[in-house]
Amino acid sequence: MINHIKASGPNQGAKMLNIKPWSGDNPSACHRHFYPADRGLHVSWPEPPQIITQVAVVGAGLSGLSAAYQLRDQEVVILEADARPGGVCKSGEFRGRPYPEGAAYFLYPMDRHWQNFYQELGLDLEAALIPEPVSCLYYRGQWYPECFHAAGIRQLPISPQGKDDFLRLTQQLAAWERETDDFAPANLEWQRLDRVSLKHYLEVVQGHSSELAPLLDPYCRSCLGGGAAQVSAWAALYFLMSECSGEARSCAFPEGDARLAAALLAGAGPARLRTHQVVVGLAEQPENVRLLVWDQHQQQPYVVQAEQVILAVAKFAVRRLLSGVAGWSAEMFQPFQYSTYVVAAVCGVEGIKTPGFENWIVGQTAFSDVVLQPWRSAPGAPQVLIVYAPQPFPGQRQALLQESVQIKAAEILTGLEKIWPGISRGAEEIRLYRYGHAQVVPYPGFLSRIRGRIPWRQGRIILAHSDLEGLPCVEMAMLSGYRAANWARQALRE
Ligand SMILES: Cc1cc2nc3c(=O)[nH]c(=O)nc-3n(C[C@H](O)[C@H](O)[C@H](O)COP(=O)(O)OP(=O)(O)OC[C@H]3O[C@@H](n4cnc5c(N)ncnc54)[C@H](O)[C@@H]3O)c2cc1C
Repeated sequence: MINHIKASGPNQGAKMLNIKPWSGDNPSACHRHFYPADRGLHVSWPEPPQIITQVAVVGAGLSGLSAAYQLRDQEVVILEADARPGGVCKSGEFRGRPYPEGAAYFLYPMDRHWQNFYQELGLDLEAALIPEPVSCLYYRGQWYPECFHAAGIRQLPISPQGKDDFLRLTQQLAAWERETDDFAPANLEWQRLDRVSLKHYLEVVQGHSSELAPLLDPYCRSCLGGGAAQVSAWAALYFLMSECSGEARSCAFPEGDARLAAALLAGAGPARLRTHQVVVGLAEQPENVRLLVWDQHQQQPYVVQAEQVILAVAKFAVRRLLSGVAGWSAEMFQPFQYSTYVVAAVCGVEGIKTPGFENWIVGQTAFSDVVLQPWRSAPGAPQVLIVYAPQPFPGQRQALLQESVQIKAAEILTGLEKIWPGISRGAEEIRLYRYGHAQVVPYPGFLSRIRGRIPWRQGRIILAHSDLEGLPCVEMAMLSGYRAANWARQALRE
């Protein structure tokens, strides 16, 4: 069903814009099982097991697919609650052209091991390299290309002191970047930085101008789920290092990081994936693990028996699945908090130009950044503007469940009209995706709370997911899947 509403903005009434119903997460698929008291669905364990396998991977996001890919020579079943694999790395299509529905870009791998990995997957990294300018800032009605590098910073309409401070920050980050190649650097400096927010670090610890935090706000909201005053300085600086580095390069495919998911699944064996399968219970036994699975097609439960289980799902789900399983407790996962996200694909826009690949919008509450797909195309070619709209953190999850798609679309279009007047009139359709638990938020102190305190493996159960080290990105997802697969392989040998 497609709803028609009037486009908002100065061209109001000129054209009817199609607004598609919510897509993205399917909250009821999991909620009805995890909140049975509210929703009345109690599932019992049918016997005997319907599937017996060596490894069951729960979740077909990048972490689960990466684990399944590494274990492609073993007997593996991938159980995915959603209708499609990829997690937050899925793609849509408009008039035959793909676009990302979630994650858009990844870093060009500097080390040989990662390069070989991408090559093995058949991914052409050179072709995916994003031409400059990669990152641009929209600030006070103007675009500023290369906003994380000296040339861009010098153009910003901020005070001389603000520019000097910003330059010093990026130089410091570029220097750290050269020294660091681990996902969670362990030295004391980093632990100290985790105690405070990015804003506190910039203004109080470094004495930098208060003009900096608002400029970095959209980046923090989009990549880490909270504003500069809400996220750990450690996490934000760690992410910003690659943006400010003179060496790091970013890559993107037209369909975004969905290309990585598709390549991993192709290598893992698509026949191993079972979609519409919600894992709702887990019981560890001396010889195996049993998984209670709800088949959404058949609307009935069945049991999968596995020697090893890789839980490649976020910890809000792990907490429920492992409650009552020996060695695990719900308290372990209490520190994990998640952001809520809306992504809007404004399809069929005409004559829109974005100066950079990633375009960060300062001072706009409705969204944080936009990506145009294709970015540079011939005039008249259909384009999709992908709008990233992280929702205020914390506490917007219930509100978003109730939110009407029309209101959310109008909010986003009103914001876009301020940058591209007439965009609502030119666009054909808007598709909205919502992610209730989009990504783990590294709030101040979180990384120190979890680091070294969460067992990543106990008994026959192994954890994977991009939230494991509190730094949500596609590289972390794939690394966690890789590590989980190695543990599973080792355990199968023992
Ligand atoms: C909007 C958005 C944009 C982003 N952009 C970027 C970007 O450009 N670059 C970047 O590096 N990172 C980006 N990220 C972060 C990055 O994409 C994620 O950290 C990473 O892809 C997550 O992968 P994952 O496998 O850890 O988790 P997920 O993608 O969350 O996958 C988990 C899977 O488990 C399934 N599942 C959950 N519960 C169950 C259950 N009970 N039974 C069965 N299946 C279940 C889910 O349906 C899902 O498919 C973005 C994130 C978001 C939300």
